[in-house]
Amino acid sequence: MRKQKALNAPLDHRAPLVFDTRELGRRPGALKRISRTVEAPEDLGTEVIGVPAGAPMEIELRMESVMEGVLVTGTVRAPLAGECVRCLEPLAREGSADFQEMFSYPETEGPARRQAEAAEAEGDEETLFLQGDLFDLEPVLRDAVVLSLPLQPVCRDDCPGLCPECGVPLAQDPDHHHDEAVDIRWAALREFAGTSRPEEPSARQDKQEKAPRASGDESQEK
Ligand SMILES: [Zn+2]
Ligand SMILES: [Zn+2]
Repeated sequence: MRKQKALNAPLDHRAPLVFDTRELGRRPGALKRISRTVEAPEDLGTEVIGVPAGAPMEIELRMESVMEGVLVTGTVRAPLAGECVRCLEPLAREGSADFQEMFSYPETEGPARRQAEAAEAEGDEETLFLQGDLFDLEPVLRDAVVLSLPLQPVCRDDCPGLCPECGVPLAQDPDHHHDEAVDIRWAALREFAGTSRPEEPSARQDKQEKAPRASGDESQEK
């Protein structure tokens, strides 16, 4: 999930999610707290819910100097926007996620570092490094936020979803019914919906309980 570039790209100390540990010092036990509000980066979320790009993300973190590096512990709060997987209505709420990550000192250049990077390439334990005094929180935030998101967000717990015949939100019109002829019209409608909104998860997705994050395409048809 994390991007490789987070390890190796040179960091810009002005980047909103790059933090400076210089004032912390390297004496183990030293502590520093930071609060920062930044604009959310692009694509922070899943297909159905996420933090809108540019939305304010409130980050509170604590940097702690330890023997091998800086331990970063914190919380992020941000608005979430998405879509109910049953009725497809837009939904908005507040989200928060906790994170903790160790950024190792870059003195571990050489064999130790290459070992760590090799381990990561194999999908084993991952080591993040400080670059000078800087670290990039973005990959850590991404993991924490995405893991905290609901897999199947709903507008309300008892959302009745869409009418399987005509697609009308049942919350708006719970008592309507259909005669036979509607099936044909709905088949055409469904085809239309399938071509114009291929990424949309359908209301049926949540009935497939065993398929979290099924792609929109798979869930279009039963
Ligand atoms: Zn709903
Ligand atoms: Zn209907």
